[in-house]
Amino acid sequence: MQQADVAVVGGGIVGLAFAWEAARRGRSVVLFERDARSKMASVRNFGMVWPIGQPPGEQYRRATVSRERWLELRDLADVWAAECGSVHAVYEADEDAVLREFASAAPGLGIMCEYVEPAAAVRRFPALRPEGLRGVLFSPTELCVDPRAAIARIPSFLQEAHGITLRFGTAVTAVAMPTVRTATGEAWRVRRCFVCSGADFETLFPNVYAASGVQRCKLQMMRTVPQPGGWRLGPHLAGGLTLGHYNSFEMCPSLSAVKRRHAAEFPEHARFGVHVMASQNHLGEVVIGDSHEYGGDFSPFDSPAIDALILDYLRRIVRLPEWTIAGRWHGVYVKHPTKSYITAEPQPGCCVVTAPGGAGMTLSFGTAAAWWDANPNA
Ligand SMILES: Cc1cc2nc3c(=O)[nH]c(=O)nc-3n(C[C@H](O)[C@H](O)[C@H](O)COP(=O)(O)OP(=O)(O)OC[C@H]3O[C@@H](n4cnc5c(N)ncnc54)[C@H](O)[C@@H]3O)c2cc1C
Repeated sequence: MQQADVAVVGGGIVGLAFAWEAARRGRSVVLFERDARSKMASVRNFGMVWPIGQPPGEQYRRATVSRERWLELRDLADVWAAECGSVHAVYEADEDAVLREFASAAPGLGIMCEYVEPAAAVRRFPALRPEGLRGVLFSPTELCVDPRAAIARIPSFLQEAHGITLRFGTAVTAVAMPTVRTATGEAWRVRRCFVCSGADFETLFPNVYAASGVQRCKLQMMRTVPQPGGWRLGPHLAGGLTLGHYNSFEMCPSLSAVKRRHAAEFPEHARFGVHVMASQNHLGEVVIGDSHEYGGDFSPFDSPAIDALILDYLRRIVRLPEWTIAGRWHGVYVKHPTKSYITAEPQPGCCVVTAPGGAGMTLSFGTAAAWWDANPNA
């Protein structure tokens, strides 16, 4: 039997974060990933590190810790991470009221952002559609990473810098502490095991998932061909529909009326949970999304009608030189209705960590650091 201090099941962002944090604290780590390379939610997202969407307090703090870790990866591991910031651009008076309320409350809550009047916004953010622009919230804290490249690079960095043992193409089939067993016949004796298996509820500890109240959510995404002539989007872009999506805006008194209007005016967007965001990676591609279908019995096929809803709305807020879509895909994440993550300890020393919802790239490093701060002797 082989030995390590810590086993991590899952090579998505949550598993990588818990593995890195354990290694930073001097633990020997073995990481198991079922597939030959990670290919689930963690490589299918926008690559937005998005503190502005987190509610003030502990979650915002964890997002800022994650942000620091991403910048460390940029410097140490050559992971591309752009300090692009974000804009919420709105074209209706009630949405503008939400932005103004948020911007005036934010400094007192330790959130860095700035309300920008339309005339100035059009000059500063030339990608925005100027006609009818009512206001913009600019936040400097958001990062852009390329999830496909980053999630492929981080494991080898952890191996090089911290001596982590990697087991790709190796499904964990049983955890009976202190033993972790794999489908390839390996057995490892460990002091602690983190099960970070994303949307796989069936293989390990199905009772934990059944009791947790988490749900799966399917999201449709697209990306354009590289934009011509080095054109840049600038900051990540979100529109009015996004105000109802992230918890951070819940503190704004005007938000409930905006949500009611959106539901009445955009019934199809509401039906498929469409709100619209865009980011641009180092290749010049603009990544566009997304929809949110909750449940579990998802169609394996994607809906062109949902893609059309997303693109129609995006055309209201941005002027892309090139709208040709080069790729379409969907991802599935796990979300709890009220918690930012779920953790459970089905056996002493074994911790299931999942359900970061739409914020795994934003919260995972900070969440792993917070877990180890709370359990320094684990
Ligand atoms: C379309 C989309 C857009 C998103 N955009 C953003 C964004 O811009 N910013 C942001 O912060 N978040 C975003 N998210 C959310 C983020 O991607 C997720 O929260 C995060 O990737 C979840 O990470 P994970 O490690 O829990 O899951 P996963 O990435 O699914 O990783 C779990 C891994 O565990 C492996 N595994 C499962 N069972 C076993 C087993 N028994 N043995 C071995 N391996 C196993 C799987 O193969 C998988 O690789 C988005 C999500 C989606 C789907």
